[in-house]
Amino acid sequence: MHALAEARSLVSKARRIAVLTGAGISSESGIPTFRDAMTGLWSRFSPEDLATPEAFARDPRTVWQWYAWRRELVERAQPNAGHAALVELERRTKRFALITQNVDGLHARAGSRHVIELHGNILRTRCAREGRILEESAMRPGSPPTCAACGSHARPDVVWFGERLSPESLSLAGEAARGCDLFLSIGTSALVEPAASLPLEALGAGAALIEVNPQPTPLSRHATLVLAGAAGEVLPRLVGPA
Ligand code: NAD
Repeated sequence: MHALAEARSLVSKARRIAVLTGAGISSESGIPTFRDAMTGLWSRFSPEDLATPEAFARDPRTVWQWYAWRRELVERAQPNAGHAALVELERRTKRFALITQNVDGLHARAGSRHVIELHGNILRTRCAREGRILEESAMRPGSPPTCAACGSHARPDVVWFGERLSPESLSLAGEAARGCDLFLSIGTSALVEPAASLPLEALGAGAALIEVNPQPTPLSRHATLVLAGAAGEVLPRLVGPA
């Protein structure tokens, strides 16, 4: 049987589905993956130079400007057919969890209801010292604003390299992975831990694993099925009418 037909059959039989998405699902909305983002003005940096607490401590202005640029892209972007297909999948699945490494909020904007944002949300800002979420009006290009209460720098409410994920989100994601009968890994390079282990946990607990990605990843050889293509094309065909 053709991989897509087999995958459709797995999807239609599954009662409990967990999905992990990465930057690839948003690339068709015009939001670059990290690899694609390091071009033009930013080509002399790597994400590790910008998305770490050390980078922010050393050069808050540059880090803030990088986030301001990415935030603008996110604000202009619209969810795509891949995001929409996952909304439909959630609607018709008994138990469904959507775990995302993306910080762009596009799943919620598309209409997904239960989204576990493992890496936070770029549209939120928090006090770098106390974690308090700050008002929208604090966000401007240029230097990071300061927290009105304690005077510390404000920072994007995202998880940087070397930082811990929220234990609650991680535990919800782990439960969803271990409790599903089908796991979809979509548009992620499957390299960044701990998210990268979730598909393997699902497999270990007996679930089938479908990967959607135009490029092979370290996960591909473990997957039950690989659908090699763009999420915005593959997901509507996976979820939509035959
Ligand atoms: P990644 O950049 O490491 O990998 C992206 C993957 O998507 C690649 O394997 C690529 O082959 C695949 N891809 C590219 N276009 C695709 C498409 N149209 N359909 C399906 N797959 C496609 O991203 P990652 O695995 O999410 O991990 C890196 C980190 O980057 C994460 O921590 C995330 O927080 C952060 N990030 C988020 C955004 C966002 O919020 N949109 C953007 C860039 C980076």
